[in-house]
Amino acid sequence: MLLEIGERCSGCGLCAPVCPTGALTMAGNKVVLSGECVACALCLDVCPVRALVLDVKPASRPETASETATKRRVKDDAQPQDTGV
Ligand code: SF4
Ligand code: SF4
Repeated sequence: MLLEIGERCSGCGLCAPVCPTGALTMAGNKVVLSGECVACALCLDVCPVRALVLDVKPASRPETASETATKRRVKDDAQPQDTGV
């Protein structure tokens, strides 16, 4: 199972509506995984008590322009400086 629902779940229900596959449903005062989890990690982001854990890396998403720019800056900074000697 990709997603583990920890004991800390308070049953607030915030995670269920954000799941793109509708995999999370409420059962009493807990949430349960009742469908296919595609490891998008959206539910992890909304859980206020961090009860959810994915046992795989979250699905990759496209890199943002700012992340690309940061990487480029870091790479440029790592280049040896031309001291002119
Ligand atoms: S990781 Fe994504 S697909 Fe899996 S249960 Fe959470 S919201 Fe749904
Ligand atoms: S958001 Fe967290 S605490 Fe709320 S129902 Fe989902 S797993 Fe439980």
